Amino acid sequence: MNRQSSAIPQTAKQQDSSFLQVERKGESRIHSVDLDNPGFGDVFSDHMLSMEYRDGQWQQPKVVPFGDLSLSPATATLHYGQTVFEGMKAFKSEDGDVNIFRLQDHLNRFNNSCARMCIPQPDANLLGKAIKKLIAIDRDWVPEKYGNALYIRPIVFAADACLGVKPAQTYRLIVLTSPVGAYYEEGFDPVNLTTTEDYIRAVKGGSGFVKTACNYGPTLLPAKKAKENGFTQIIWLDAHEHKYIEEVGTMNIFFKINGELYTPSLNGSILGGITRDSVIQLADKWDTPIHQRPLTIDEIFEEDDKGNLEEIFGTGTAAVISPVGSINHKGQTIVTDREQIGPFAQRLYDTITGIQYSTLEDTYQWMSSIG
Ligand SMILES: *Cc1c(COP(=O)(O)O)cnc(C)c1O
Repeated sequence: MNRQSSAIPQTAKQQDSSFLQVERKGESRIHSVDLDNPGFGDVFSDHMLSMEYRDGQWQQPKVVPFGDLSLSPATATLHYGQTVFEGMKAFKSEDGDVNIFRLQDHLNRFNNSCARMCIPQPDANLLGKAIKKLIAIDRDWVPEKYGNALYIRPIVFAADACLGVKPAQTYRLIVLTSPVGAYYEEGFDPVNLTTTEDYIRAVKGGSGFVKTACNYGPTLLPAKKAKENGFTQIIWLDAHEHKYIEEVGTMNIFFKINGELYTPSLNGSILGGITRDSVIQLADKWDTPIHQRPLTIDEIFEEDDKGNLEEIFGTGTAAVISPVGSINHKGQTIVTDREQIGPFAQRLYDTITGIQYSTLEDTYQWMSSIG
């Protein structure tokens, strides 16, 4: 490890500011971590944010040492899944500033997810301030290497110890952070997708449009089967007619056809990605026509037959832009004839990461400095 980190003072509890209580960890674990090669999701920084909901309101947030939770085996969320999460990233610029990508947009989505899951919404401004403070305290955990970042994972869950199926009266909100490496360490590796006729991901009226745990558990088995058949991930079709494209794993999907961009419209079963929105804003600025509408898998195959299909890529916080190498549907395959990323997807990737690492101007005010 070739970086310096300031020692964390060994104070116990201290009142950091009026809205937030801070209990610092005695000794940092940072020296045991290789921030240049942190992998994804196994390493956690020294502190986490913790907030409780009881007596009909959210209590004061606290920054506490990262550690295990002690929960009753009857904790409602373990049984019925009343829980919500988010995923975003903080980046270190060359001059050492730390900025979070689209913080308030992520927190607004967190609150929309809470609304769907009948979880009382925290104050998004206060939560944003508390998250910035958390990252400021663990600033040394934000990797310096271009491509690496500090992944920020807020969760909130029903904390009642009660087996009744009903909205809980107590909740716990935690924000943990994890230094992560670049998704594609050695250049882009296009993903190979397949549809499936046996499973669906989400249905209108369900919870597919929010980030709640119950959308992910059921996808593990079909994803495992797809992997066994040589595919990277599933491209989900709609639950009713099995013909409209929805999204991929934890990514939204885009097609570039005849110089124009297409992505499925947010129809109630698709998760509205923040990266998806960023791509739409950029395409708009670049005067690339962008169509958000229902897209059938058949029309994509037809455009490919006509030679009009130029690029396919997924979007999400983890990889930013993920080129798609092939799509299999009922034994027919589209193969984008490149091993690498297409020029439009590359331009999007360069622009978004440039803004994230502050090498490009942040024209959209996407970045919030932790101060
Ligand atoms: C998180 C997620 C996405 C991508 O959203 P981003 O905000 O771009 O990270 C897409 N689909 C699903 C199902 C997701 O959970």
